[in-house]
Amino acid sequence: MNITETANNINSENPLLTLKYEPAIESLGNEYYDQVIAEQFPQHTLRWRNDAILPTLGLNPRFVKDEDFINAFGKFQGREPFLALRYHGYQLGQYNPQLGDGRGFLYGQVRGTDGQLYDFGTKGSGKTPYSRGGDGMLTLKGGVREVLAAEALHRLGVRTSRCLSMVETGLNLWRGDEPSPTRSSVMIRMSKSHIRFGTFERLHYIQRPDLTKKLLDHVIEIYYPHLHNSQDALEDKYALFYAELVKRVAELVAQWMAAGFCHAVLNTDNMSITGESFDYGPYGFITTYDLYFTAAYFDYYKRYCYSQQPEICKLNLELLQETLKGIIHENDLDVSLSKFGEYYQAEYRRLMLQKLGFANLANLQINEVDHLLSLTLTYLHETQVGYHQFFYEMANSFDINWRDDQALVMSKSEIFPGIGKSEIFDNWCFLYHQILNNLPIEKIEQVAENLRYYNPKTALLRPVIESVWEQITEVDNWQPFYDLVTTLQEGK
Ligand code: AMP
Ligand code: MG
Repeated sequence: MNITETANNINSENPLLTLKYEPAIESLGNEYYDQVIAEQFPQHTLRWRNDAILPTLGLNPRFVKDEDFINAFGKFQGREPFLALRYHGYQLGQYNPQLGDGRGFLYGQVRGTDGQLYDFGTKGSGKTPYSRGGDGMLTLKGGVREVLAAEALHRLGVRTSRCLSMVETGLNLWRGDEPSPTRSSVMIRMSKSHIRFGTFERLHYIQRPDLTKKLLDHVIEIYYPHLHNSQDALEDKYALFYAELVKRVAELVAQWMAAGFCHAVLNTDNMSITGESFDYGPYGFITTYDLYFTAAYFDYYKRYCYSQQPEICKLNLELLQETLKGIIHENDLDVSLSKFGEYYQAEYRRLMLQKLGFANLANLQINEVDHLLSLTLTYLHETQVGYHQFFYEMANSFDINWRDDQALVMSKSEIFPGIGKSEIFDNWCFLYHQILNNLPIEKIEQVAENLRYYNPKTALLRPVIESVWEQITEVDNWQPFYDLVTTLQEGK
């Protein structure tokens, strides 16, 4: 057998390579990307494979070997060349026309069993025409952090990309924000799309309205298909697209806020045109309800702090209008954007009430639960007790007797010595007791179940990440990382 035949055999037997790849972006022509090849790495150690998402691709994990992951997503056999996508973006408020896939590329696009088209994007796969001074690489810790964030967020109900695999690649990298030299990895991210707000902004910047329209048609056809297909929508499908994007983004930020998540780098090149969350670098989960919590060390002015996220996303949507103005009437854009706050509030309220145990609002007095929510936030803010800890304690100490006696509410919780005596806490306990008291008794078990489901014990706080990383970096022990991923996925 000659070398070509061997390579072909590997490919035809590799279920990751025989998936039905669709050249969706490729078919738009070469104005949107550059063809690139992947780096050849000195080492390929599979550190993570996300078996939980293989069924969405029509794959049974049992029939996909580790070697298949390595050949496809570490050695990059069988599918070159790849597409480094072109984009610009507003970074920390400044327009940057020097961006683009600088350490990643679009590996391929695959139709899932759910009928949706998914992108496989790489991170850490080598230099491209957009690498500028960078090395095109991803640190191993960066890969570990993105895997963890995506799995945690997914379980918490955030519409997010997920990682398909991570391969350690054997290079020594130098980074200002990690003890260096540090280990390297290449990660595959599965997302709805890697088309960003910044992909459109670039087309405006280079003054190509023809390309903007073509890309917008593509986005609507694939990611907003109901607008593409509906006869009613034919006339103003572009305006309807923007209206829906506003809603999707508003809901996404509400999901982050309820999850206690700070993305940290809300540049427009990190905003997906599908309204999905992706690209987890220096993110952080809040420890307490600290409105100014800022996760990125370089964000000196707290531009992207926890509580600024809704405003920033709204601003990013507004910046996108510049590009869309040639296609969508300005008034339509403004009217759509003016609904951002309303969409955000509705989703945030829904999610927070779920965390408080109320997934179904039937039988509840709306003004009472709204009062409970605002009291909860005031309490969390004033006391700075642990955000995740508070909700977990509710779930853990919940007792049906809370319905009958307000003095029992949270009485078994051990984490608030002294706080139980404060006026705001007493008010909170009274209100919670009252709401339960107004519910039919047979509904109480549902409240307990909601509390348990929506408030996992393990939050992905910085010390949790650092403790698994310490085991990896000091003794190459990956078990705590695998255990943590499972815990996050299961919401334990
Ligand atoms: P990110 O921080 O991953 O959202 O990337 C912002 C921009 O910087 C994108 O254009 C990236 O491709 C580029 N970039 C980030 N890190 C590197 C790197 N190590 N090498 C080359 N380009 C990079
Ligand atoms: Mg990015």
